[in-house]
This record gives sequence, structure tokens and C-alpha cells, in this order.
Amino acid sequence: MTTHKAHCLILPYPLQGHINPMLQFSKRLQSKGVKITIAPTKSFLKTMQELPTSVSIEAISDGYDDGGIDQAESFLAYITRFKEVGSDTLTQLIQKLTNCECPVNCIGYDPFLPWAVEVAKNFGLVSAAFFTQNCTVDNIYYHVHKGVIKLPPTEVDEQILIPGLSSTTVESSDVPSFESSPQSDKLVELLVNQFSNLEKVDWVLINSFYKLEKEVIDWMAKLYPIKTIGPTIPSMYLDRRLPNDKEYGLSLFKPMANECLNWLNNQPISSVVYVSFGSMAKVEAEQLEEVAWGLKNSNKNFLWVVRSTEEPKLPKNLLEELKSTCENNKGLVVSWCPQLQVLEHNSIGCFLTHCGWNSTLEAISLGVPMVTMPQWSDQPTNAKLVQDVWQMGVRAKQDEKGIVRRDIIEECIKLVMEEEKGKVIMENVKKWKELARNAMDEGGSSDKNIEEFVSKLVKEI
Ligand code: UDP
Repeated sequence: MTTHKAHCLILPYPLQGHINPMLQFSKRLQSKGVKITIAPTKSFLKTMQELPTSVSIEAISDGYDDGGIDQAESFLAYITRFKEVGSDTLTQLIQKLTNCECPVNCIGYDPFLPWAVEVAKNFGLVSAAFFTQNCTVDNIYYHVHKGVIKLPPTEVDEQILIPGLSSTTVESSDVPSFESSPQSDKLVELLVNQFSNLEKVDWVLINSFYKLEKEVIDWMAKLYPIKTIGPTIPSMYLDRRLPNDKEYGLSLFKPMANECLNWLNNQPISSVVYVSFGSMAKVEAEQLEEVAWGLKNSNKNFLWVVRSTEEPKLPKNLLEELKSTCENNKGLVVSWCPQLQVLEHNSIGCFLTHCGWNSTLEAISLGVPMVTMPQWSDQPTNAKLVQDVWQMGVRAKQDEKGIVRRDIIEECIKLVMEEEKGKVIMENVKKWKELARNAMDEGGSSDKNIEEFVSKLVKEI
């Protein structure tokens, strides 16, 4: 029987890209003797396809138990009610977990929910903010919070000077982007408000690793107790300290695992373009059609994740044609895949990605070069880092209408998979993959930070 040394309650915002890294971090803590309880919202829990078997789950409420955010009349209504009902139900949960055999002594919360710090402080718990974006993006949000820069920037093509990012030229097309609408304004407010209670927390944890963002981490560490603890990829893919742990997250969609892996097993090494825009992006119909033609014209094999809500946007005849291409064994279109197993597969030669931070970090950790097609939020900044700082891929440029055309997509895929420049990219990919693994290895920078977090947590008891 395991005797736990401390008990950490993990509070994620209900999004796929938030719960995955927080669950993986939890498992690392658990492997070092910390008891974990994860507290998703009731509505989010209902939509889960698979539940993790290795951690306890106790739901809280966002006030919309039947449909979550889809049930709310606006984003503002959702976050307002979440704060109110969430604080109450979190309080009740902590009371319950205070009376258990190993009482809860720490809360690891998503800074999208900054009110959690107040609740934690009421109980005298240690508090740790877990940022799911990288440190560069956090730095940009910090400066928006401080009023130093504006989102969106006032001038297009403006060069933006951001303290802590002096070695990187940041232009308006590189900063997080949002459509202009009252809903988006509220979202920006939520992102910026991640810093609103941060001076009260004991730890600021970031899903990144030191060598990847050294300059900005050093700069931010002067302001907050920052520790990098990533990449939060299952141990099985990195240092194999938990050898059978391939379980990735609380999946929102059902992965078509057998179809994908059987198909990949029949493809030549490094021959396949893997395409995914993540769990949230609503890609315009015109853009999806350009992607389809770009893939077809590149003449490469492809595995394309088109979520079922996105599929109707593809013209029927084109979809049919793509599917008949699939029969010729050239491509496969699925509604969701086990992304880590796909990226790890030796048939994958390139990742056409929206550059969500989890996908980017997964590609770095598993050594896959990228063609980036950022859609919104932090994705343009991630794409900038991939191309210009880490040099692990290329960004496919949009036209004035904001669409990446088929010839550009074809060109970028060929550049990465066939040309001399692609070989240089591959060298960098190998280097960063190694550094990512070193960070999580025993004694690596992220592993040491997790050790320090656990040992202080144990001393607090
Ligand atoms: N993902 C997956 N299967 C898919 C597509 C995505 O498991 O078919 C996972 C992926 O591994 C990543 C997460 O979904 O962990 C997406 O997070 P990311 O930050 O990349 O993008 P978001 O969905 O937040 O836009």
C-alpha cells in the first residue's frame, strides 16, 4: 500500500488542452508519492470518453451542470457564474478532502480560475498556478495586464518591444490574436487576468523547459516564483520511468486508434504528413478546402484529423475524392486520433499543425518537424518560436484574406520533407527532442523543479 506524503487538489479549466497537461503533471507528482485528486466540472466530466484510472476524480460545478459553457447565454455569464458556484463547490470539496486520511494541503489551479487562490488561502493551503501556455506567451499576457502593450496591437506591422524578449523580434502578426467581438474581448480579459492574483501564490508552474525559453524564464523569475515542469508528456514517451503509462488525458473525443495505427504501420518511414487543428479551432470552409488541395497536390501520404463538427464544411465531392484517395492507401481522414502515438510513429515525416501549445510541445518532444498554420490565441506566437527561434519548422503564410492557399501549403510540406532546408530543420528537431527529454530525465531541470515542489509540500504538512 502506498503511503502518501502530501495531497494536491488539481483544478483545471474545462478545456482539452488544459486538462491533458495538468493530468500528466499530476501523474508525475503521484509517482513521487503525492496523492492527487482532480476536480473537473460536472458538465466536462459528462463529456469525457475515457477517464484516467490512476487518479481520484471529484467534480465541482461551474453552475451549468448539463451543458457547461454551451448552456450559458454568454462567455461573461459563464465565467461569472463559474466563479460564484465554483468557489462554493470548491470550498465544499476541500472541506471533504480535509477530513480524509491524507488531508489535502495544496491546490494546483488553472490561472483561468484566479478565484481559486482565495479559496485555497481560506483553508491555509499551498497554492500553485499551473500555466498551460509557454513562458513567452505568458510574458506577453503579463505586459498586456500591466498596460505596456495592447492586444490587438494598435499598428499593423508594428515591431513590439517586450521586456524579457530582447533577442526575438516580435511583430504584430506574432502576438496572440483574437477576432474582434465582445466575446473575444472577454476572453482576452480572462487570459490577462491569469496574473490578477498571482502575487499571492506560492508557485507558478509552466509547461515548458528551461533551455527552450531561457531568456524569458530568467526575466519572469525575477517577478514570480516560476518553475518549468514540462514537457508534460506521459513518461512512457520520454524517460520511461512509468513504463506502461501511455494514458494521455481525459479525452473529449473518441480516438480512432486502431484505424490510425494499422494504417500508419503500412506506410513507409517518414512519408506521412499528419494534419490536425486541435480540439477547438473552427477553421473556415474555404481554408479547409485549400488544405485538402494542398495535401492532394503535395502528393504525400497524409493522416488528417477532421473533427465531426468540421467535416460538413468540406465540399461533398472533395471529401469523397479524398476518401477514394484513402482507398488507394494515400491518405486517411479520421475524426480524432491518439496524437502521441501518431507523432511517435516512424512513418510520420511532418506535422501540419495549428500550433496549439500542447501539440507544439508534443511535436518537440517526439521529434517531428512542423508546418504551422496558426489560427488564433497563442498559436501565432508559438508558430513564430517554432520557425524563427527554435527553427523546427516553417510557417505557411496567409494571404490578405487570412487564408493559406494550396500552393503555399504544398510548398511548405515539400520544403520540410524534401529540401536541403528540411535537413537543417531536422537537425534542430533532433537537438530539441534530446533537450526536452533531458529536462524530464532524473536530475533534469524540470524533474529537479518537480522534486523541489514535492519536497517543500511535504515539509509544509
Ligand atoms: N489531440 C488528440 N487527438 C487528435 C487531436 C489532438 O489527442 O486527434 C490532443 C493533442 O495531443 C493535444 C490536445 O489534443 O494534447 C490539443 O491541445 P492543443 O493545445 O494542441 O490545442 P487546442 O485543442 O487547445 O487548440
